[in-house]
Amino acid sequence: MIIVMHPDATEAEVALVVERLRSVGAEVSITTDDGRTVVHGSIETLLQDEAPWDSFPGVERVMPVLRGGRRVGREFKSDDSIVRVGSVQIGDGELCVIAGPCAVESRDQLITTAESVAQSGASILRGDAFKPRTSPYTFQGLGKAGLEILAEARDLTGLPFVAEVIDPRDVELVASYADMVRIGTRNMSNQALLCEVGRQPKPVLLKRGRAATVEEWIDAAEYVHSEGNPSIVLVERGVRGFDTSARNTLDLTAVPVAKKETHLPVMVDPSHAAGRRDIVGPLARAAVAVGADGVLIDVHPNPAAALVDGAQALLPSEFATLMDQLRAVAAAIR
Ligand code: PEP
Ligand code: MN
Repeated sequence: MIIVMHPDATEAEVALVVERLRSVGAEVSITTDDGRTVVHGSIETLLQDEAPWDSFPGVERVMPVLRGGRRVGREFKSDDSIVRVGSVQIGDGELCVIAGPCAVESRDQLITTAESVAQSGASILRGDAFKPRTSPYTFQGLGKAGLEILAEARDLTGLPFVAEVIDPRDVELVASYADMVRIGTRNMSNQALLCEVGRQPKPVLLKRGRAATVEEWIDAAEYVHSEGNPSIVLVERGVRGFDTSARNTLDLTAVPVAKKETHLPVMVDPSHAAGRRDIVGPLARAAVAVGADGVLIDVHPNPAAALVDGAQALLPSEFATLMDQLRAVAAAIR
């Protein structure tokens, strides 16, 4: 934590602050900034809540910016955070399943999928109106019309929905429709976008960058939190490896690591990790077993005709079977 002293603070007042920090085990360093003495404590402690810093003589302000710590880190908050998405809670110990097509392609396609995943017990609907495609000549999403279809599906099924935002200029638009906004793997290190979603109140689903370390992923979450939005859910979705047998390599190690390092809920997207439907089920079951707070599953009523990611989408009937299995795994590990 950083404590900025008044320009006219006395040496004794600075010493009192230093002594208090040291008494809870902090390493202390002192710098000056614009004529003020700035005291840096190396650890974030509960002091911020417990010590009445504002009434310490000579203290001008306490900056909740941490040195050697992060707001999303356990050192800042030791208990698990629960993130609310509409009426759904993520991280409360119940398994959360987000399901739906990769992209909204038409009203029929989305409504059919939404009704089937709702019936199978999904908690949140997924479906994108803006797609970050590798090629500029492929389907890029329906834009605002797609968001309108998603909102209609929410009205019909009662499921809140999450949709990706890829451009800081669209954050307000997407957040005005969606119950949760998603940052995709390609944008995990787009700090302008992270800050923009951090400045709006809807919860944020933050995918891990496909070549990002867990540390970098957590730092990306810190960008969102640092702008004022603490409602963040991390998603492991596979990283690029040397093996071409699946689209990505699902890094299940990241789940317990991220849960240990941060207080945020952690989910897994086995669909985008696998890129192929035949192994989505086993990966999803493993994700629940390893302690993920939930999973994201691509579901499409006609995967062969899907405009995006058809190869990994489950049929609604396959999804229904998987839901039963996931409930059994969740109950077993509880
Ligand atoms: C998606 O969920 O549709 C998606 C594009 O995921 P990712 O960013 O993980 O590739
Ligand atoms: Mn996709």
